[in-house]
Amino acid sequence: VIRYFVENNHIQEVYDVLLVLNKIKKLLIDCKKINVTELREFLDKKYEIIHRIAVELNDEQLANATYVTKKYSNLLLKISSYLKTIKDKEYQSSWVILQDCLDLTFWIGKYTKIDNRLEIPSLIKLFSCYESLYPYKIFVSSELIVTKSRCSICGASWNSLDCTHIKGNLVWGKVVTEEILDAEFSAIAIVPHPIDKRCIIEIDEKDQEYSFNKIDLFTGQNLYPFTMFTISSKKSFKRREDIKIVGVNSPCSCGSGLKFKKCCKKKLYQEHLTLLATPTETVNFLFF
Ligand SMILES: [Zn+2]
Ligand SMILES: [Zn+2]
Repeated sequence: VIRYFVENNHIQEVYDVLLVLNKIKKLLIDCKKINVTELREFLDKKYEIIHRIAVELNDEQLANATYVTKKYSNLLLKISSYLKTIKDKEYQSSWVILQDCLDLTFWIGKYTKIDNRLEIPSLIKLFSCYESLYPYKIFVSSELIVTKSRCSICGASWNSLDCTHIKGNLVWGKVVTEEILDAEFSAIAIVPHPIDKRCIIEIDEKDQEYSFNKIDLFTGQNLYPFTMFTISSKKSFKRREDIKIVGVNSPCSCGSGLKFKKCCKKKLYQEHLTLLATPTETVNFLFF
């Protein structure tokens, strides 16, 4: 679908969009700062114009291609937001952005041909590497029974024969979806691999520093952000230099009044996590 968009580069706005997409990719590769808001506004205006042109030309394929390309540019901008968030050590919010990136990648992958998926397959691999750095392993998933819904395109009741649209298809630059009007809440479950991994089970505040240890150590290694990696971590014990060793039955040096063996001797060795990220393949961004 994106290829059809590119084939229409005789349209000035299409050409402008492709230039900007190349620019964003170049900035990503060079790890340079990207002005996400400004670029999104610029691109959205262009996409609107191209959509109008497609309607005038009666070219539905172009309208659909524009929609998918818009998602693609959103993905590139999201990636830049993600990298900024982990750089700023906002790990908790970075998880949600990472999930957005994955959703967009899968979505775009579905609307592009297997031999022409640009960097989509390698981005999915890359995001999975990043996912492995988080402490979230189980999630909350809720089950709903839909009692009333309608088609997002024609508005007819979803289960009526009046609507001939097929879920997931593109129609004039819009996706056919089932809009839920009414639903009954049926169950809640705790699962390891739901479709939506945003509903995490909160970790104890006290443990949080420790649980983001992995991603924190990873960012500390300053690995090139577009290289996939394998992780090996090792727990070791480190002698605490701040504790002064005295005789086991002597009063502890911390001033607690307890014997050393009943006090700081127990805390003498601290658990220490070391992590080594080994780079494997690198995402190869393709230019238009
Ligand atoms: Zn319909
Ligand atoms: Zn002590």
